[in-house]
Amino acid sequence: MSPSNFTVFLDRDGVINMDSPDYIKCAEEFHFIESSAEAIALLNRRGFDVIVITNQSGVGRGLFTRKEMHDIFDKMQKGVVRAGGTIKDIFFCPHTPKEICSCRKPLSGLILQAMEKYGIDPARSCMVGDSVRDIECGYNAGCGYTVLVRTGNGEEVERIIKEIKIENKKIQAYTDTDSATCISTGCKDPSFSETATTTRKTLLEPDFIANDLMEAAIWISSKISPHY
Ligand SMILES: [Mg+2]
Ligand SMILES: [Zn+2]
Repeated sequence: MSPSNFTVFLDRDGVINMDSPDYIKCAEEFHFIESSAEAIALLNRRGFDVIVITNQSGVGRGLFTRKEMHDIFDKMQKGVVRAGGTIKDIFFCPHTPKEICSCRKPLSGLILQAMEKYGIDPARSCMVGDSVRDIECGYNAGCGYTVLVRTGNGEEVERIIKEIKIENKKIQAYTDTDSATCISTGCKDPSFSETATTTRKTLLEPDFIANDLMEAAIWISSKISPHY
């Protein structure tokens, strides 16, 4: 086993390949997003390990078999190898939300499995995804960095992040004033409803927002030295 270098965890759908609301059910439906395989190869060349972390509830929903899922993984790996890179390992959650497992993102189970298997230092890792739950998963697993890509759901997520930021700023501006004591003392200020304090969301802001995986790879490799 190689010593703990820097590991880049990648979500699959919407990051490596084009996503579909109907799920990617067979290898024929798997299509690389432009330059994503090359981005993985670039990360490898710069010394980073790449591990895929993916929710595949379509298995649990009976939309495709494990065999079909593995055929998709094979197609993905072959494409990456053709581009000069390699995916070190793939961790997947086959469960539906109803199954209450500990591996479905945003829970950290899959990343923790990978960290345990390869002795990865959480601080020396980055989670890249196109959904809020990917960023949350990275936070939950203690990843040193999180990166959002605009491919897949990324653009929508970015909008949500902006909205939360604005909302938090408004609330912050309010709580920074003297009337904030009203909240801490439990006194109700009719001019500013208590919903403001209860709707304040935890902002899971990614460290970087990239147009696509290639831009994410370039950011990661310029920002982080893959070796100690
Ligand atoms: Mg995704
Ligand atoms: Zn699971």
